[in-house]
Amino acid sequence: MKNSIIIANWKMNPATYGEAEKLVSNLLPGITRNKKTKVVLCPPFVWLNSLSSKFKKSISFGAQDVFWKDGGPYTGEVSPQMLKSSGVNYVILGHSERKIYLGETDEMINKKLKAALEAGLIPVLCVGEKERNSDGIPAVVGEQLKNALGGIGKNLVKKLVVAYEPVWAISTMPGAKADSPDNAFRALVFIRKILAGLYGRKTAEGIKIIYGGSVSSANIAGFLKEGKMEGALVGGASMDAQEFLKVVRAAGR
Ligand code: PEP
Repeated sequence: MKNSIIIANWKMNPATYGEAEKLVSNLLPGITRNKKTKVVLCPPFVWLNSLSSKFKKSISFGAQDVFWKDGGPYTGEVSPQMLKSSGVNYVILGHSERKIYLGETDEMINKKLKAALEAGLIPVLCVGEKERNSDGIPAVVGEQLKNALGGIGKNLVKKLVVAYEPVWAISTMPGAKADSPDNAFRALVFIRKILAGLYGRKTAEGIKIIYGGSVSSANIAGFLKEGKMEGALVGGASMDAQEFLKVVRAAGR
């Protein structure tokens, strides 16, 4: 069994560097004590360099996005090399909020994914349908995955993490409710099959598939045990140090 990975997506929070530093300091003892679960914190870009300089010996850091170019006239963007030189190893890509609010397309996600992998970052690629579907995993999830992976070879893809994040389950969506471990398991099988079709079974089995959407300390165990997910992407619950540590502890059991 692979060790699980718990990734905190702080989104555009907290409001100040002081609060960000306090949150990491409060997490530190619980995280360093827990050897079984890999924990990655993804704060906003602006706090990344300082937080990682201060805490990277104890915790891994990730960004919430990256641009596909190495440098040049791209105002406001951040390159994969910039992340690497800031001590960042992970990057979330294709999050539904970037698609919904910022017009990110599958083509852009594909370029970002390729650039991140080529730079040696570990991308956490989000895929997921917008509407709840009682008829299994909708084809759009497979299309998002295949589009994101277009032109990316077997040698590059090994470090990829895929996050199944049904948009309707994300805690900030109206009426959001976590998916069931059963359905998450269906998504895992569906995603793994597509990865196997693209890269062969052995490579597909090495790629971590995690769940995201209203994860809390009350439901994480179900996703990892019954749902057989290999970790979780945690939004809202990662902003509360005690709750997030409970998620991490439950994942390590
Ligand atoms: C997310 O947006 O990546 C997420 C998982 O959010 P939440 O846990 O708040 O549903």
